Amino acid sequence: MKSNEVKQLFQKEGLRFTSQRNLVFDIMSKHPRPLTADEIYFLYLEQDESISLSTIYRILELFLEKEIITKTLLTDNNKACYVLRHGHKHLLVCLNCKKITEVKECPVHYFEDDIQNATQFKITGHKLELYGLCPECQ
Ligand SMILES: [Zn+2]
Ligand SMILES: [Zn+2]
Repeated sequence: MKSNEVKQLFQKEGLRFTSQRNLVFDIMSKHPRPLTADEIYFLYLEQDESISLSTIYRILELFLEKEIITKTLLTDNNKACYVLRHGHKHLLVCLNCKKITEVKECPVHYFEDDIQNATQFKITGHKLELYGLCPECQ
């Protein structure tokens, strides 16, 4: 994603565009696999030394809040892993190599009406993540 597109995305989410937020976003788009905050921190330091791990966490919290990224079910040494979200898509995660494949279809929408009718719940969203072994790792 070009930096003016990132700017637009931030604007849409009501986020101020800063070089730190931009670089975190850039790192995550160039490494499309689940990354821990530590990994993002070290990748960041390779390009720019002016950041602390707590700032990385703050940016990740903000991105989570705005649903720019998502926490995956996968963890690394019990640490949360994060990936970028691209609109309404679901992820297939390889538990071995951590490769991520996006699933184009969303089967959950079909259930939502039934569940709403059965429970009188007003459903406003859902999370779905699939995991297993990719063809190379089987
Ligand atoms: Zn794999
Ligand atoms: Zn869905």
